[in-house]
Amino acid sequence: MKIGREDFEALIKGEKDITSYIELDPVAGTYSVFGVKTASNPNYLIKAIYEMYEGHLNRKLAVKAVRKLFRSVGQGAVGLQNLLKKMGMELTPAEFLLLVFKLQHQQGWGAPFEVVEQSEKRIVLRTKHTFESEILKDWKMPVCGVHMGWIEGVLTAVTGKTWYCLERKCVANGDDCCEFVADQVEPSWKFKAQAVVKGDSAITEFIDHRPVEGIIQLIDDPVVLMPRFVFTSMMNSLKKTMGELPAGGVNYRAYMDMGKENVEHYKKMGITEPTTLSDMAFTFYSQMGWFKLVKSEWNEAKKEKIITLEHTVESEAFGSTGKHVCYCTAGLLAGIIEGSFGVKVQCREIKCRSKGDEFCVFTVTNKAE
Ligand SMILES: [Zn+2]
Ligand SMILES: [Zn+2]
Repeated sequence: MKIGREDFEALIKGEKDITSYIELDPVAGTYSVFGVKTASNPNYLIKAIYEMYEGHLNRKLAVKAVRKLFRSVGQGAVGLQNLLKKMGMELTPAEFLLLVFKLQHQQGWGAPFEVVEQSEKRIVLRTKHTFESEILKDWKMPVCGVHMGWIEGVLTAVTGKTWYCLERKCVANGDDCCEFVADQVEPSWKFKAQAVVKGDSAITEFIDHRPVEGIIQLIDDPVVLMPRFVFTSMMNSLKKTMGELPAGGVNYRAYMDMGKENVEHYKKMGITEPTTLSDMAFTFYSQMGWFKLVKSEWNEAKKEKIITLEHTVESEAFGSTGKHVCYCTAGLLAGIIEGSFGVKVQCREIKCRSKGDEFCVFTVTNKAE
């Protein structure tokens, strides 16, 4: 089927709808709408995608992961934009968004939007409901990651700038409509790192992995993947040369310096508030697989902080040894707290999973100069 400029114009004006452009050939197994091969059954697919992410993340982060996935889908809109340009049609970003979603909606996918507000840097769109807000109604929260990502991707494709979309109202959250606010932003390191600390994003959203080139970046910082047995290997090698206790001390010191340097890096990126600095370090190390924070308490009588961790990287690597093993983690915690709060501290592990305790528990106390 040949699609021309007059077809787009008729669609935008509402003189025609998508039914004139549906070609279904059951024998060939093809279903084309508006010249593009498509398929049905999106409800099952959408539910499966959300549930796949929910399996590894919480629901809020699963919605964000779907947003990221559909950002790529939205970026495909650049093909349609080029076609329209060739036909001599210049639409504004908002007009183009409306056309994309009109085409999708008439095929049972995207929502028919109305523009609530538009400027060069902000577009606000509203719809009665989206298909994902119906499918995921029982999540009882803003769920429209498909549309958030789709809007971001389309806008990025047609403007060449980065857009960030939030859902202000959602039918699945009990609101009377789904309303999306898209802002053109310069996505800074600080902006992304704070989203991770607030729980609005997981670090997975910002991992740029180019395995063929041998490069991994987390936000804009280069990182490496290491096997966990690095910890046993390094400890055993140090033990051989200097004995067990000094080896523990060397590890403690090295990881304390690392923790401090890490916090210094956050400061250079513009984070200044001490609690945010330490929360950021805890969140990043935790999401990178070093430990899971169970709780952090303050003992006023003893003037000490008590940090309880589940599965530290060392206790997992060493397994059951009958001894404390988490020297690196203890040093790291001390370094994070020293760097964040500008104090001198001593961190000691008082319970360890490798010793048979349920958790690894650390006390952090001020160190006399
Ligand atoms: Zn919604
Ligand atoms: Zn331990």
